[in-house]
Amino acid sequence: MIQLIRGFKDILPGEVEVWQEIEKVARSLLEDFGFKEIRIPIMERTELFKRSIGEDTDIVEKEMYTFPDRKGDLVTLRPEATASICRAYIQHKLYTSDPVQKLYMVGPMFRRERPQKGRYRQFYQIDAEVFGVQSGLVDVQLIFLLVTLCARLNIQDVEAHLNSLGCPQCRPRFRSALTDFLSSVSEKLCADCIRRRERNPLRVLDCKVPSCRAALATAPAVLDYLCDDCRADFDAVTETLAHLGITCVVDKQLVRGLDYYTRTAFEIQTTSLGAQSAVAGGGRYDNLLKELGGPAIPATGFAIGFDRLAELAGLNASDLVQKPDLFLAALGPEGRSLAFNWVCKLGLEGIRTEMDFGNSSLKAQMKRADKLGCAYVLILGDNEIKTGAAIVRDMQTKEQFSIPLPDIIQGIKKVIRQ
Ligand code: ATP
Ligand code: MG
Repeated sequence: MIQLIRGFKDILPGEVEVWQEIEKVARSLLEDFGFKEIRIPIMERTELFKRSIGEDTDIVEKEMYTFPDRKGDLVTLRPEATASICRAYIQHKLYTSDPVQKLYMVGPMFRRERPQKGRYRQFYQIDAEVFGVQSGLVDVQLIFLLVTLCARLNIQDVEAHLNSLGCPQCRPRFRSALTDFLSSVSEKLCADCIRRRERNPLRVLDCKVPSCRAALATAPAVLDYLCDDCRADFDAVTETLAHLGITCVVDKQLVRGLDYYTRTAFEIQTTSLGAQSAVAGGGRYDNLLKELGGPAIPATGFAIGFDRLAELAGLNASDLVQKPDLFLAALGPEGRSLAFNWVCKLGLEGIRTEMDFGNSSLKAQMKRADKLGCAYVLILGDNEIKTGAAIVRDMQTKEQFSIPLPDIIQGIKKVIRQ
């Protein structure tokens, strides 16, 4: 038997209802706040991710599914959505009609990491991006949306973590302080961090190796090196969050795993997912559009881990699974032919109707109706055809009544929609 690929998964009926409900809630929340859906390809030129996410990040160094297509061009299954959405914004010049664009997407991402609970090689994200607004108020709004979404999905124990990563103006000063610090603890760092130390010292702060984490506990913090503008922006963000009643943990060590962030970076973390504590992450990336060859337009956004939301959501799949409204228990060729006709017509009316397509006995059909959880059964045997009225049985109260055959569709609609 051929099994699915390690780290990939099927989302089966009985589980998919939770995913559908989350997607519905997320889409309606984002659309209420003016976001429009964008659909982007699953594959892009590898160059796009290298240039945006950064050559020295874990994603680009070791997690991407990259391969030459049949002509030899290097392509990559998207590991995240921001790069593609930026590419689309630039390529289609979405900024010419209005630089301010609020876009979202829902779909699969691919990263070849070690599979474990809450970590897959094909996983799903709900991603939102806002282009064209420099104000930190938009960052606040994004955090507000994430907190609201968690609340609407009955997810408890979430905490917003927040940091500022500064800007090209203040970062060089921080970078040199960090480089000095890293030299002083270099014998405690892993081989990856030793290499990153020269090329991209900020990445060292994101290392998950416990010995590196311990060595970095006393590392300098970006927050202590912010320029006046970045400081004012960060203070405004934290004050506005407080006004909205959103409690935030200022987390000096939060740097995120992608290179393009500037100023505010945030994560929604939970204590209920073990090691995989981040449910969502995001932040501002004011220079990325320009670096990708587009206009100098600021931007900010977030990505939610859909799989982790589904794990945490206080939703009960069995409450969401749709059961049939009606089972048509028909006997004899004439009854079955009439029933088949009704199954089709009732389906068009939005009434979920099932029947048995074989020659089962009435008893077997009643058993099946019960197993499927049908609210009503309509019985149509030789006797009912003779008298010209079918019997309807309420499976819960066990009450029975009859409906004349010519009135079946209207009669059933009335019973089900009452
Ligand atoms: P982590 O620290 O858990 O590796 P990340 O910083 O790599 O997360 P992002 O790139 O910011 O994650 O993606 C946003 C969200 O997508 C994460 O907060 C997480 O919920 C989810 N996510 C990331 N990688 C995976 C994965 N391999 N499987 C499932 N969900 C994931
Ligand atoms: Mg990761």
